[in-house]
Amino acid sequence: MALKLQFWGATETVTGSLHHVISEEGLHFFLDCGLYQGRRQDAEARNRQFPIDPVQVSGVILSHAHLDHSGNLPSLVKNGFRGPVYCTPATADLLPILLKDSAHLMLRDIEYINKRKVSRGQEPLEPLYSLADVEQTIRQIEPVPYHFEKKLDSSLTFRFFDAGHILGSAITRLTWQASNGESRFLVFTGDLGRDHLPILRDPERLDSAHYIITESTYGGRFHDDLSSVEDELSELIRTAINRRSKILIPAFSVGRTQEILYVLNTLLTKGRIPQIPVYLDSPMAIEATAIFSKHLECFDEETMQQLKLNLNPLSPPGVTFTRTVDESKELNGLEGAAVIISASGMCEGGRIVHHIANHAAYRDNVILFVGYQGENTLGRKILDGHKQVNMLGDTFAINCQVKKMLAFSAHADEWEIINWMKAFDAPSIRQIFLVHGEPTAQQALQESLGREGLGPVTIAKHKDIFKLG
Ligand SMILES: [Zn+2]
Repeated sequence: MALKLQFWGATETVTGSLHHVISEEGLHFFLDCGLYQGRRQDAEARNRQFPIDPVQVSGVILSHAHLDHSGNLPSLVKNGFRGPVYCTPATADLLPILLKDSAHLMLRDIEYINKRKVSRGQEPLEPLYSLADVEQTIRQIEPVPYHFEKKLDSSLTFRFFDAGHILGSAITRLTWQASNGESRFLVFTGDLGRDHLPILRDPERLDSAHYIITESTYGGRFHDDLSSVEDELSELIRTAINRRSKILIPAFSVGRTQEILYVLNTLLTKGRIPQIPVYLDSPMAIEATAIFSKHLECFDEETMQQLKLNLNPLSPPGVTFTRTVDESKELNGLEGAAVIISASGMCEGGRIVHHIANHAAYRDNVILFVGYQGENTLGRKILDGHKQVNMLGDTFAINCQVKKMLAFSAHADEWEIINWMKAFDAPSIRQIFLVHGEPTAQQALQESLGREGLGPVTIAKHKDIFKLG
């Protein structure tokens, strides 16, 4: 018996993850159903296309809650998909807040574009999906715990393993019987995390796979050492306390925000910094942080130790969660040193923009970037050293210091992917497929895996079909 695998999304690019699996019985499953994020017109077209009629899809196996893996689910549902969305319990909790937030942003954008189109006498765009489609998607979520063998049909099962990338992230292993009766395994990394990231467990090692679909975002690249993070952050905080200045940290609500809280807590516990007022100014980040605290099954040893001592590592002493707009506005008049963590991570909206407008003119304040800044974003402009930026319909001076601390990446770098891959019994691997990477990164990883004796390695292309026997 054989499994058919068709590549669709996140081929030779990093967004829109979707791989199409057809079982021996002829049932169709998707691995992920991510939003393609790129130029508006490309994205419009790509996000409306699926490899088959959504009505025929029996289920989606979702690796994690990030939108480039999950964000097109409401569109699939709008077009008739009514099967289960399998994901881990933590992903099941995170997914609704991410999908709702994404829907609000998408609908707001469409409204803005359509106003202009209508005023020019052009046809308005139809939104990709509605809030009702998001609600329906949420009803179709079916949590499957890590390590539980879930049956998909008479010949196909799957199991989730911890990917250590974000809370609830999973490596998926599909199992079926070959015609000689032996078990066959297809392993899909989703996004592969890293060893020693704060809070989360390290990516689980699997020992056996015949076929592997791996992400390749950081092929040919290597991250800064995580151990430098504590030194850099404590230095910045001590300086801020001496100068009575502010540190603004733009951070995505899920993942980076909690890691920063965790590191701040560690520095306080170790006595490396005095207590400083910390404001988490993002309702979505506050909600996400509460979800983190519910999912102990995702925590590593160090985090569990702290919990046993009745310490909540995601709520360091001195932290204030500001939910309402009024509470957020009160931070404008804040006296003395403080850390303000707020979304969005690339300053493309959210409360962080107001804090930058309010604090960036002062020389002693710091904007600290802790994540990748995409091209053409406000975050990238500030990081690139622009001294004046346009936001909130006005021009603002950036006189403050701009720092970056990029060691936190949630993706394995090339060496980490190879190291993870080495746990497999190499001779049993029949094919490694590379997805979720730009072509140069993929070529670099393809060569390096080859040098390590891992492979053969294929860079998956859109619509490629393989029969996995
Ligand atoms: Zn991800």
